[in-house]
Amino acid sequence: MVKQTIQIFARVKPTVRKQQQGIYSIDEDEKLTPSLEIILPRDLADGFVNNKRESYRFKFQRIFDQNEKQETIFENIAKPVAESVLAGYNGTIFAYGQTGSGKTFTITGGAERYSDRGIIPRTLSYIFEQLQKDSSKIYTTHISYLEIYNECGYDLLDPRHEASSLEDLPKVTVLEDPDQNIHLKNLSLHQATTEEEALNLLFLGDTNRMIAETPMNQASTRSHCIFTIHLSSKEPGSATVRQAKLHLVDLAGSERVAKTGVGGQLLTEAKYINLSLHYLEQVIIALSEKHRSHIPYRNSMMTSVLRDSLGGNCMTTMIATLSLEKRNIDESISTCRFAQRVALIKNEAVLNEEIDPRLMIIRLQKEIQELKDELAIVTGEQRTEALTEAELLQLEKRITSFLEDQHPESKLEVGADMRKIHHCFHYLKKLLNDKNIHGTSIASSEIKDHNSQEPLKEEEYKKLRDILQQRDNEINILVTMLKKEKKKAQDALHFSSMDRSELRRSQSSPFPPGNPEGPRMLPPSAPTQAPDSSTSQYRSSLLHGKTGMREEMSLGRQEAFEIFKRDHADSVTIEDNKQILKQRFSEAKALGESINEARVKIGRLKEEITQRHVQQVALGISENTPVPSTPDLLEEKLRSQLQEEKRRYKAMFTHLKALKVEIEHLQLLMDKAKVKLQKEFEAWWAEEATSLQVNSPAVNSLNHMKPFPQTPESQHERSQLLSSKSDVYARKILPLPGPLLHSQEQSSPSIPLEDRIPERPVSSVPLTGDSQTDSDILAFVKARQSILQRTGFQ
Ligand code: ADP
Ligand code: MG
Repeated sequence: MVKQTIQIFARVKPTVRKQQQGIYSIDEDEKLTPSLEIILPRDLADGFVNNKRESYRFKFQRIFDQNEKQETIFENIAKPVAESVLAGYNGTIFAYGQTGSGKTFTITGGAERYSDRGIIPRTLSYIFEQLQKDSSKIYTTHISYLEIYNECGYDLLDPRHEASSLEDLPKVTVLEDPDQNIHLKNLSLHQATTEEEALNLLFLGDTNRMIAETPMNQASTRSHCIFTIHLSSKEPGSATVRQAKLHLVDLAGSERVAKTGVGGQLLTEAKYINLSLHYLEQVIIALSEKHRSHIPYRNSMMTSVLRDSLGGNCMTTMIATLSLEKRNIDESISTCRFAQRVALIKNEAVLNEEIDPRLMIIRLQKEIQELKDELAIVTGEQRTEALTEAELLQLEKRITSFLEDQHPESKLEVGADMRKIHHCFHYLKKLLNDKNIHGTSIASSEIKDHNSQEPLKEEEYKKLRDILQQRDNEINILVTMLKKEKKKAQDALHFSSMDRSELRRSQSSPFPPGNPEGPRMLPPSAPTQAPDSSTSQYRSSLLHGKTGMREEMSLGRQEAFEIFKRDHADSVTIEDNKQILKQRFSEAKALGESINEARVKIGRLKEEITQRHVQQVALGISENTPVPSTPDLLEEKLRSQLQEEKRRYKAMFTHLKALKVEIEHLQLLMDKAKVKLQKEFEAWWAEEATSLQVNSPAVNSLNHMKPFPQTPESQHERSQLLSSKSDVYARKILPLPGPLLHSQEQSSPSIPLEDRIPERPVSSVPLTGDSQTDSDILAFVKARQSILQRTGFQ
């Protein structure tokens, strides 16, 4: 049993504005616990009633400042928890902080770069790597992904997500058994045998969550997401199974509604917007008070699900995410205060071991048989009929495995049946006689040494040949996969650069099947997967089916989508990722070729060693001299070359595997970005269509046209860009880099000449008479005019 208080860490999100920096300081004295000091700016300090303090100091296990990388966060926070989960203890990591402070970035990761991947993908990678290394146990991994919104649980991996909205799905409910263990009804568990499968599940859940979100429910800030890795391990032959769960939790935004007192002053008492967080705080307060016997876990779904993680059988870690800007000071102080209380909670983690009932049954059956046999001997009831063919065969098999078993205490179990005992003796006698005859003949031969050595070598060669064959197969699968993937990426590139008039003719959806968005090949390990893990196909069908993106799109709408896509900030990310992906493909291809070369070389070296050896033996026979027991110089040299080549091969193979994971991750990021793009387009389109109807017939007036929607975040970023011109943000905001036309129009990114859209007055648009198509065409014309306006070409 391990007793431990909940570990608390703080992570400060990078601020863009430099002047914010004097707002906090980090004190990291080697000997003391690090502390974070939040300094209230003068004008704000006056606003707090009963509060003349100018600064607040909070202690944390460790504080990660703005520039700390995702890798550092994983190494320091998540890796120790993952290790204890591998050892059989439950673990939980939860991120707490106001909306926009970096919870999702920390737990799941950023949507742009591979290096931005967060705790979940890194933990999955680490766990699967460790499982592969440890062959002493049999491991099984399952994944579940739960979203709690408005006190209701939803299964983010439920296949029915495809057909329904969040509210129509069966609710996940909490059940408590007589031992007060919590069970979640309707939450599906998906087996993942590889890192890729687990990663697919993560992205599938995230995409489901994004699709289910509407501006009304604001699921991403108001809901809690619990990604759980269920790990069970067992030593071969043992009946004891160890079960451990790792919850990775992205909580809802912790922002509160502040009560405003007379004169607009802020009162320090503020309420959570989110009821679950209110209950979470109550549970934490109760747990941190020494003499409280009742802990109100049952008040909310989230506290019930996380019951073990809070004051129970779990190693728990909290990450307080802070966005330390002036306007967020009070929220940041609340987050730190919450963390201080959490730090008082003590947990007791125990190893979760239980007996596997199936193995127990086998063990008991064996025991019964032994007892029956013993009884038969004691009562003298011996069977006399001859043993059947099957019984004889089974007996001989047992004798063979008994003889092969090197363990000094191995037993030959035949039961108390005298017929079987007799047969065993006969069989052993026969074997012994055969061996004696064989043994004498060999002893008289001069090549005894050679023969006693040879079987060993034969065995070694066979093993190497098998391994080689396996690797060959793996490489073939990988190379085929890479070829297909490359072709898809090229198709996608080709598609995006296709002439727009051609696009008009092609009448296809913006993401036709066959693009990287289309059904993707399963990872190479697919044939060994569990039946429920065909998530890639499921995911891609979901990505197509769910967004309301119809296969048959009218021309105008298609064109508008193209423009929308090109103008959208995310398309830069998609393009960037495409380029990186292309690079990775060629790297993987080159590596694949080098691996093939190394493989051929290994084969050649082995051949040479065998030949050399055969030569030596032949020489020995012809000259009637015994073959030297150690290989000669040349053979030794060949062997060391072989070793070296194998090492190289292995290193390249490992690298190729890592590349494969990166490629998969980038593709998933792209998929997600595209679904988001489609979703935003649909919303914008619907809004435009409505406003078109409302304003009809005055369609010539463009004043009511809304610009393409921008998230508050990106608007914020845009204004930040204008003041700071930070490179990082510039990438996101300037989708079409090029020289600015007019210096006073800095807010309008200019378009390269070839992409300019010719002006087309609404009156010259040929209408078809079909109302749906016509409204599409008009909307499209307006869309391009809106873009022209925004980009300074009109
Ligand atoms: P939350 O989930 O707490 O609402 P997010 O994780 O979505 O916040 O972060 C808000 C924005 O800030 C995102 O665009 C994210 O990429 C960015 N961000 C957050 N933390 C960091 C960080 N440590 N480094 C770089 N960008 C970050
Ligand atoms: Mg979030």
